[in-house]
Order: sequence, then structure tokens, then C-alpha cells
Amino acid sequence: MGLIADTLQTYLPSKRKHTPSGWISFNAPCCDDKRQRGGFIVNAGDAVSYHCFNCGFKCSWQPGRHISQKMNKFMRDLNMPDDVISQLRLEALRLNETDAISVRSIVPTFDKRALPIDSKSFEEWRTFLKQTDDNYVVPKAVTDVVEYMARRNIGIFDYPLYHSDKIGFNNRIIIPFLFKGDIVGWTARAVNDAKPKYLSEQQPGYVFNLDRQHDDREFVIISEGPFDALSIDGCALLGAEIKDSQNWLLKQLGKELVLVPDRDHEGPRTVEQAIEYGWSVSMPNWPAGVKDVNDAVIKLGKLATLWLIVTAKESNGLKIRLKAKTWFKE
Ligand SMILES: [Zn+2]
Repeated sequence: MGLIADTLQTYLPSKRKHTPSGWISFNAPCCDDKRQRGGFIVNAGDAVSYHCFNCGFKCSWQPGRHISQKMNKFMRDLNMPDDVISQLRLEALRLNETDAISVRSIVPTFDKRALPIDSKSFEEWRTFLKQTDDNYVVPKAVTDVVEYMARRNIGIFDYPLYHSDKIGFNNRIIIPFLFKGDIVGWTARAVNDAKPKYLSEQQPGYVFNLDRQHDDREFVIISEGPFDALSIDGCALLGAEIKDSQNWLLKQLGKELVLVPDRDHEGPRTVEQAIEYGWSVSMPNWPAGVKDVNDAVIKLGKLATLWLIVTAKESNGLKIRLKAKTWFKE
């Protein structure tokens, strides 16, 4: 039992009775009671309550709260020494802060971030190019990006994708990271062999594409990369590791969480984490050469890929581990 509930019980009057429902009754110290009309109870989670059925005085405490003035008075009425009362006040404060810190470290917050300079959505590009010249020629950089997305089977108007014609970005497709409608980061992937493959502005704990998970689907499909997420309207971890904050954000959706791991050397670790967080995992029977969701969409299209994912999803940890043993070797 907790220090506060424990200590209070030690200082209750020695002449006391225990009732089957858990109350301890004694002569109420708050007033002149001789008929054991004071009642004290320890509830679930170390919460305590005191009721006087003689004068009507009541006080209570539960973890996460400070010691109230009334609780303080009750402790004085019990003749608890000042230093013991101080110790319990500190304990209440400590419990309160521990709770606050553990919640604060899991619930992420995201600041707004600017996209790379001169980023324009493809709608804006269309309008911009039309204004420039009636017989406009689409710049090669823009065409390259559009063709790249077509090869990956992702429509450039299905998601607010961007392009910038500034050097360093003109060979990249810019994917904004949205959270509750705000842009809180982005990644810019090269559409040619340029290095690095990705330039990114990413805040810790972020999950890609959460904003678009409020449809009729009873589950959320979670994969590693943004292209996987874009090709089937799922979410992306933007890495092989599941962070506590990401798990928290995804759980808020109130849907079944289904991980589709990349079929690579990091996949088994992601699967193990998913099992620990209580997610389902889907390891579909992909066609040869397919190692992630976007590969599958390029080969099979969106609907067939979704069908394979859904039919292969498994929530039992033992069965997931068994399947993983062979799936990652294929
Ligand atoms: Zn009383």
C-alpha cells in the first residue's frame, strides 16, 4: 500500500472496528463523538476517504492530487506530528509530478514548420505555369517529378504534394508532414540518383498521415516509409522503430493497428515492438521481389495490395513470431 494510505491508518485511534465493506470506524476526532461515527476507507489505487457521520466533516485524497486543507485538518485532528504531515505532503507532490512527467514525455507536441523555399503544390504549379504563358511548357524538373510519382503509382493530386524549382530541391518530390491541418515537417525525396535520397525536417514522435485516418476503415495500416503510406492511405513510422509517442498517437484513433513491416533486416525488430504494443501484424504473401507496400502497389495496384494485407493480418503474438521466422527469409 502507498505511504499516505499506510501512514494515515497507523494514526487512526487505536479503538477501531473494521466493517466487511472495508470501512474502519472509530470515535471521530473532528468533533466530540463517542459512538464511533468516524469512518475511514482505503479505495482502489491507494485513494483514501474520511467521513464523519456525526458532524458531517468529509475529506479525501487520491494519487495525482495535493493534500487538501481538509485532509490537513483531519491529519492534525489525528494528532499526527508536523514532520509526518510534511512528509506526506511531499509524497503527494512527488506522485503528482511523476504522473505529469510520464504523461508529458509520451504525448508529443509539434511546432509548425516551413516547407523548403518556393515550394508549390501541383495545383499551384498548374496555375503558376498557366499565368506565365498561354502556350506554357512544363519545366523538365516538374515533369521528372510527376513521372517519378507515376512510376510509383501515386497520384500527385491525391495528397498535397509539393515541388520547388530551387537548386537542391528541383529534383525532389516534397511530402509535407501534416498534423491537425498544420505543416509540422516534411521530407523531400530525390527522383534521380542524387544523395542524400531524403532531405527531411522531422519532429520526434511524429506519425505520417494521421490526419487522414478518420474514414470507415476499422483498422490503420502502418508501414515504414511515406510512399508506402501514400499508396494505400495508411500511416508511416518514418523509420523502423516504433516510438512510445507514436504508439500513443496511433492508439488515440481507437482502431486496430496493423503493422506491415518492410521485408528487410530491420523488419523483425519492428515486428517484435508491434507485438509488445499490442498491434496486429500483416506479413502478406507478396509477389517475388516485393519488399514493401509501395512495391506491391506498383506491381498489383492498390486494391489487390489492401486485400493481401487485410487477409494476412494476425493479432496473436505467437502466430506472428512463427510467421516472421520464414517471411523475412523469403
Ligand atoms: Zn465529526
